[in-house]
Amino acid sequence: MITEPTNGNFAEAIAIDGTLVEELRKKVTGNILSPGHDHYDSTRAVWNGMIDRKPAVIVQCKNTEDVVHAIRFAREHNLKVSIRGGGHNIAGNAVCDAGVMIDFSLMKKITVDPINKTATAEAGTIWNELDAATQEFGLATTGGTVSETGITGLTLGGGIGWLMSMLGSASDNLLSAELVTATGEIIHTDKDNHPDLFWAIRGGGGNFGVIVSLTFRLHPIGPMVTGGMLLYPMELAKQVMQFYREFVPTTPDELVIFAGFICTPDGIPVCALLPSWFGPQEEAEKILAPIRAFASPIADLVGPLPYTQLQKFLDAAAPKGIRRYWKSGFFSELSDELIDIQIQHLQTRPSPITPVLFFYLKGEITRINPADTAFSNRQQHWDIDIITQWTDPTEDEKNIRWTRNFWNEIQPYSNGVYVNHLDRDDAARLSSAYGENYLRLRKIKTQYDPENFFCMNNNIVPS
Ligand SMILES: Cc1cc2nc3c(=O)[nH]c(=O)nc-3n(C[C@H](O)[C@H](O)[C@H](O)COP(=O)(O)OP(=O)(O)OC[C@H]3O[C@@H](n4cnc5c(N)ncnc54)[C@H](O)[C@@H]3O)c2cc1C
Repeated sequence: MITEPTNGNFAEAIAIDGTLVEELRKKVTGNILSPGHDHYDSTRAVWNGMIDRKPAVIVQCKNTEDVVHAIRFAREHNLKVSIRGGGHNIAGNAVCDAGVMIDFSLMKKITVDPINKTATAEAGTIWNELDAATQEFGLATTGGTVSETGITGLTLGGGIGWLMSMLGSASDNLLSAELVTATGEIIHTDKDNHPDLFWAIRGGGGNFGVIVSLTFRLHPIGPMVTGGMLLYPMELAKQVMQFYREFVPTTPDELVIFAGFICTPDGIPVCALLPSWFGPQEEAEKILAPIRAFASPIADLVGPLPYTQLQKFLDAAAPKGIRRYWKSGFFSELSDELIDIQIQHLQTRPSPITPVLFFYLKGEITRINPADTAFSNRQQHWDIDIITQWTDPTEDEKNIRWTRNFWNEIQPYSNGVYVNHLDRDDAARLSSAYGENYLRLRKIKTQYDPENFFCMNNNIVPS
């Protein structure tokens, strides 16, 4: 099974002395939630229902000073810290056992500057909130494909989404950030201020400080775009994936196509193509014609829709709180052999609500030099995600075993991983998310967090 992280050198404070909590409460403007508080359990619950950790105290911050107090409190009492942005991390790193959880769910202020095409958002903002605010001005930046994912965790890991081929990753559009360091110092970072730190937070995750707000570059998008999905019977799965493999690399930056093995709501396994077109809407039919021509789908649900709806299109397939185990990797080729292995494993999928998803990195995200930001796996290649999900705890072992067997067979073909897709037992794969950038990340970690105070993350250990 999966082992939970240990507390390392941090104290095992299951319950903190009430007087200390009261002292903290006096300093903090936001809420302090201890075990037994009405909102304690709902706040420590995250997207992956397998995560059941119990922080000694949750600090629901309302401003930067609250974050500073939370960090100082944790340091004074030698407590571990975890940081919750949107709570979507598969490994559940937002929640620690017996430490201080810094929760941003009360910090969601968004300011859009439509003249300079920028948006500044506090760290608790989720993508549907930022998208709604920027779309009021017909603007957007690359965001995640599930609208309830937090902007902060996603951007710090790189940030992949529908707009990545046109605009680069979420982190490629990050202009600046405000953060609090491990010593409680408040820092503004951008390409001219603490440039090493700014380089590191664009892909290096939550290793370097607690982000309070992020400022993004925006671009004209929508409001109407074209998207949706086409469904094919599993008998056509190999043909669909072969077409997908040949067609996608030839497409313009404005067209991004995800693929997936999913089940319909009545449990029928199908193969799906999910195209999104952001170019001139009058060209959508022509651009999508090759997809519609190569085989007959059993359902064609592609059409015009607002960008904000496209951003929510996959939400229903990713409900909060059910049980999950995830394996993912990048692959330079989508060979026939790899396709065959996948179709074969899907025949024994224990849970019908488990999807396997595919996308291809191309366009702007691949044109940026891998050394320019910490997010480095930028070559044109495929991403495959086995997103195992189920509801019954007695089926944990069956689902985890199936996922591991599946992954063990395809892993030899993999050439790296996206850091935000690492699960709890993937620590050994961390360096493959960074390639040649890994050593520089360790040096910057040593500079900003030599004691590894921020360790509830995909942990870059100081050198
Ligand atoms: C259903 C689903 C869909 C997804 N789709 C995409 C996608 O389309 N594209 C993509 O790129 N990724 C995607 N991901 C992965 C996602 O990017 C990561 O799970 C990311 O960690 C989520 O960010 P969060 O803020 O919601 O996470 P949290 O669970 O809140 O945080 C995860 C980690 O991020 C760091 N962090 C969060 N907030 C802060 C902060 N304020 N300061 C410092 N560090 C912080 C911490 O290390 C924390 O442990 C998806 C995940 C899920 C579950």
